[in-house]
Amino acid sequence: MQRILIVEDEQRLAAIIADYLHAAGFVSHWLGDGRGVAAWVREERPDLILLDLMLPGRDGMEICKDIRSFSTVPIIMVTARIEEIDRLLGLELGADDYICKPFSPREVVARVKAVLRRSGGPTTADGQGLVLNESTMRATLDGCNLDLTAVEFKLLAFLFARPGHIYSRDQLMERIYPDQRIVNDRTIDSHIKKLRRKMEQVLSGCDLIRSVYGVGYKFEPEQG
Ligand code: CA
Repeated sequence: MQRILIVEDEQRLAAIIADYLHAAGFVSHWLGDGRGVAAWVREERPDLILLDLMLPGRDGMEICKDIRSFSTVPIIMVTARIEEIDRLLGLELGADDYICKPFSPREVVARVKAVLRRSGGPTTADGQGLVLNESTMRATLDGCNLDLTAVEFKLLAFLFARPGHIYSRDQLMERIYPDQRIVNDRTIDSHIKKLRRKMEQVLSGCDLIRSVYGVGYKFEPEQG
């Protein structure tokens, strides 16, 4: 089960959100004070954070910046003023989404799911997102089996482990063919092409694997 950290000083609101998240199959943890949030995240590694902007102890902006210095965990920033969102976007804090109060708990759950799906990580029991099972070498996208070959699975798992990191064809080849068997460097291109086609068949428009012209490939969770 995925763990959502709710950072919110209004306890009643936090409790309502927690109820809805629980009903949607998530586990949640609540922190009501800004101090200690970054340390908690470092220690507990939640799957997503709902972060209120105005908090006692430490404000959400500082916390967000701090967390981004060591983690790419998805962060949804919660503000009480819609005008604030433009300013926050301009500050490039690295949050993944913004929600304005008052909101419906249903909307919060929908945003949580959408952000988790975009971030490419495994999501809830409703089978959304990309899920890799290393032991069975089986990958599912939005609940559908991608039916990958062993080489395709290895490539995907390797790229997936470091989102945004660009790997050259040589690096990928070393990874996939550690016995240094002589393979044409177009081999990687052809595996990637098949992998993309399989993902595209399940989820039209899916471009989680991007080519970086003249360099190689990277796994890029969609940004909204
Ligand atoms: Ca607040």
